Amino acid sequence: MSKIIDGKAVSASVKEAIRTELEELKATKGLTAGLAVIIVGDDPASKVYVRNKKLACEACGFESFEYALSAETTQEELLDLINKLNNDDRVDGILCQLPLPKHLDEKVVINNISPAKDVDAFHPENVGQIMIGDYKFLPCTPAGVMELIASTGVEIAGKECVVVGRSNIVGKPMAMLLLHKSGTVTICHSKTKDLAEVCRRADILVAAVGVPNLIKGDMIKEGAVVIDVGMNRLDNGKLCGDVEFETASEKASYITPVPGGVGPMTIAMLMKNTLTAAKSKLKD
Ligand code: NDP
Repeated sequence: MSKIIDGKAVSASVKEAIRTELEELKATKGLTAGLAVIIVGDDPASKVYVRNKKLACEACGFESFEYALSAETTQEELLDLINKLNNDDRVDGILCQLPLPKHLDEKVVINNISPAKDVDAFHPENVGQIMIGDYKFLPCTPAGVMELIASTGVEIAGKECVVVGRSNIVGKPMAMLLLHKSGTVTICHSKTKDLAEVCRRADILVAAVGVPNLIKGDMIKEGAVVIDVGMNRLDNGKLCGDVEFETASEKASYITPVPGGVGPMTIAMLMKNTLTAAKSKLKD
C-alpha cells in the first residue's frame, strides 16, 4: 500500500514560508508584493480558480488586484489593461486566467505580459529560459509536482521518468524539469503505441492527460512514485484524476490524491513566483 502525498500540507508549508519571508522583507526593506488576476467572461471553473488565488494572496500577505471583465471585452481593451499593469509598480505578477473567450487571441495576450511579471511562465521568453535551465519563474503546475516529488525524499537522478501528456503548460515543461534533475525522461501522448508498457518502466510517473482513470494499477511498476495532475469533472460533479487511485495505490510507493494533490501546489507555486518577481525590485 502506498503513502499518500499530501499536497494540501506541502502547499500550506510553502505558503507559510512565503509569508514569513515577505514579512521579514517588509520589515527590513519595505518590500510589498502584488498579484493582478484578470478574468474575462463567466466560466464557473475559472471563477473558482480566481477566488482560490485571491485567498492564497491573502494567506501570503500579498496585495491582490482582480479585474473581472465582461465576455464582450475586445482584444484591444484587454491589451490596454495588460499594458497598464505592466507599468504599475504595485503589481509584481500578472495572470490572465485561461481559457479566454474564442474571439480573443491567447498567444497575443500572453506575449503582451511583461516577461518580468509573467508569473505563470507562459511567455515565450520564460519558456525559452526553462529550456536552457536558467530560469526566473518555473511554470506553476510542473514546479508544484517537483516539490511533491522532493517531499517524498526520492532522488530523481538516474531514474526512469515517464510523463503522460505533452501540453505546453504541463507535459513539456514537466519533462524538462525532470531532465534538469537528471531523470531519464520519456514523454507519452495520444499517438504513443503501447502506453501501458512505457508506463510500467517508470520509477516516477506523472500523468497530465485529462482522461479520467486512464492509468490503471497494472500499468504501474511496483514501488513507483505516481503523480496525478489530472483534474476531470465527472457527471456526478466529483473531481477525478487521470490515475485509477484504488488500483494504482496498490502498486505505488507514493501517490497523490485528486483532489488534494497537485491542485493546491499549483497555486502555492504561483505565490512563489510572485514573491520572486517582487524581490527583483530590491536589486534596482
Ligand atoms: P491538454 O489537453 O492540453 O493535453 C493533454 C495531453 O494528453 C496531450 O498531450 C494528449 O496527447 C495527451 N493524451 C490525450 N489522450 C491520451 C491518451 N489516451 N493516451 C496518452 N496521452 C493522451 O491538457 P493539459 O496538459 O492542459 O491538462 C492535463 C490534465 O491536467 C487535465 O485534466 C487538466 O485539467 C489537468 N490540469 C491540472 C492542473 C492542476 O493544477 N492540478 C493544472 C493544469 C492542468 P496529444 O498531444 O497527442 O493530443
